[in-house]
Amino acid sequence: MNFPKPRKWLGQHFLTDPRILGRIADVLEITSDDTVVEIGPGRGALTEQLLLRAKRVVAIEIDRDLAKLLREKYAGDERVTIIESDVLDVNLGEAAGGPYLVAGNVPYNITTPILFHALEHSRAERAVYLVQREVAERVIAEPASENYGALSVNLQALATAELSFRVSAGAFTPPPKVESAVMKIVPRADPLIDATEEAAYRAMVVGAFGFRRKQMQRVIRELWNFGADDATAILTRAGIEPTDRPEVLTPADFARLLRAR
Ligand code: SAM
Repeated sequence: MNFPKPRKWLGQHFLTDPRILGRIADVLEITSDDTVVEIGPGRGALTEQLLLRAKRVVAIEIDRDLAKLLREKYAGDERVTIIESDVLDVNLGEAAGGPYLVAGNVPYNITTPILFHALEHSRAERAVYLVQREVAERVIAEPASENYGALSVNLQALATAELSFRVSAGAFTPPPKVESAVMKIVPRADPLIDATEEAAYRAMVVGAFGFRRKQMQRVIRELWNFGADDATAILTRAGIEPTDRPEVLTPADFARLLRAR
C-alpha cells in the first residue's frame, strides 16, 4: 500500500517521567544481547531506558537539530548509532545488522505507516510503541467490535498486538489533546499472508470496509465488479456466508477470500 510521505512533524509533546519510560522499555523484554532500533528518539528520554537494558541502540531521528544533539550526547558511546533520516526510508533490519527489537514514541500523524514499515522484511522480533490510544484500540480490536476495521485486519494478518498500558495526557509536556497508550506488537511466525499478497490484501480490506455494513455478496460485486453468480462462487470457495458483513470477518477470512478470487 502506498502511504503518504510524512510532512514535517507537528508539535512536540515530551514524556520525561523515567518510571513511565522504564515501563515502556520493560514491555519489550529486552535482554543484554539485544539490539533495539528506536524510532523518533527526540531528546533521548526513552533511549536512556533502552540503554539500561540493551546491548545496542540504533536511533533513527528525522529532525536535524535533535539528531545533532543526540550525536553530541552519545559521542564516544559505541553502543549508540544515530541515523539522521526519515524512518520510512530506512530498512530497519539492515540498520540493525541482525535480529532486532523496535521501540518508538512515534509521531502520531504517521503511526500507521511506521507500524507497517516495521513489519517489512526483515521484521523485528517484537516492537513497542507509544501511540494515540484510539490507534491502539483500533489495532487490537476484534471482529464485530466498534473499533474493528481495516487497520485491525491488516495488522493482525501479520502480527499479534496488545495494549500494554495507558498513558494519560497529563504525563506529557505540554499535554496533547489526545490520550495515549503503549502497545506491543509481535510479528506472527506464520503470517496469514505472504509478502507478495500484502498489497492486494490491504487494498481488498480497505475496499471492503468502505462497505462495512453491506453484505459480502454485495461487497464482492462492488469491489471486484463480478456478477451475482461469480460473487456467490467466490464466497462459497472462501467459506464465507454471502449475508455476512465485512465487520464480522476475521483476518483469516479475508486471506481465504483473497485466494478464492
Ligand atoms: N521519544 C522522544 C522523547 O520523548 O524525547 C520524542 C518523541 S516525539 C513524540 C517523536 C519524535 O519522532 C520526534 O523527535 C520527531 O522529530 C521524530 N520523527 C518524526 N517523524 C519522523 C520520521 N519520519 N522518522 C524519524 N523520526 C521522526
